[in-house]
Amino acid sequence: MANHFQAYLKMCKELATLGTCPRAQIGVMAIKENRVLLTGYNGAPSKEPQCNQVGCLVDDGDHCIRAVHAEQNLVGLAARWGISLDGSSMIAYSIVPNPSSLARIVKEPTCERCTLLVKTAGIVEAVCKVEGIDEVFKTIYVDRTFRTEL
Ligand SMILES: [Zn+2]
Ligand SMILES: [Zn+2]
Repeated sequence: MANHFQAYLKMCKELATLGTCPRAQIGVMAIKENRVLLTGYNGAPSKEPQCNQVGCLVDDGDHCIRAVHAEQNLVGLAARWGISLDGSSMIAYSIVPNPSSLARIVKEPTCERCTLLVKTAGIVEAVCKVEGIDEVFKTIYVDRTFRTEL
């Protein structure tokens, strides 16, 4: 029987296809009390050139710095619209065309900077799935409130 988590994970997979960075496409949702608060995916700020139009901008650490990470977009939109993410759970789905070139994403689907950001926004846990990898990564940031049923 399908549960909320499975349904939301499927929706995150669809959201990921909107991601505009060819290195990785990531769809995220903030969930609270089994309701979707907000969604996001990775890409440059709207109305700015996107990776899939003008190419990635890669820094020394092999990160694309043109695309805003899906988690950053989620927190940014929450701030813009005045939606509190405090006590929410994050679900993320990553499509990585070439996982061997991005071992970091496979090992740690939410990057270090985004982990700090979502913790600061009050997100209490993250459940991340990478396409093609059976394992689901679940990280609990704060031991309180709602839990996603896996
Ligand atoms: Zn890119
Ligand atoms: Zn990130």
